Amino acid sequence: MTYFKDLTKYHYLKEEDVTFNVGWLSAVNYYEVSSKPQPRLVSKLRLLLSKSANKTRGIHFCELCSKQKPIYDFRNGKRKVLLGSAELRIINQEKKIIYACPDLIIHYIECHKYKPPQEFINALYNLKV
Ligand SMILES: [Zn+2]
Repeated sequence: MTYFKDLTKYHYLKEEDVTFNVGWLSAVNYYEVSSKPQPRLVSKLRLLLSKSANKTRGIHFCELCSKQKPIYDFRNGKRKVLLGSAELRIINQEKKIIYACPDLIIHYIECHKYKPPQEFINALYNLKV
């Protein structure tokens, strides 16, 4: 997986100047951790999976898991979605900016306790899906 520090300018796949990175984690770089599970955050992000952006042909595995295997997300225990080959966009209407995150962010939050920046969380909660 490509690593980008949270809230740096997004340049990975061409994009407008107002797009910022969130959730591009790697095994060797520090990331913020939450002490509590964040189910509300995860379910809001799941709603965005059907509107994913920049789908690529390759699949990124999670570097934080010890085994290199595809990561699936299970919604309601039924539908299985392959993560690691698309991105999500979250608009911050207040700051007029966009956050670009890998769809693996769902896995990072659920399984590795990743805590995205608070401004990202606020924008996500304010988003009408
Ligand atoms: Zn993992």
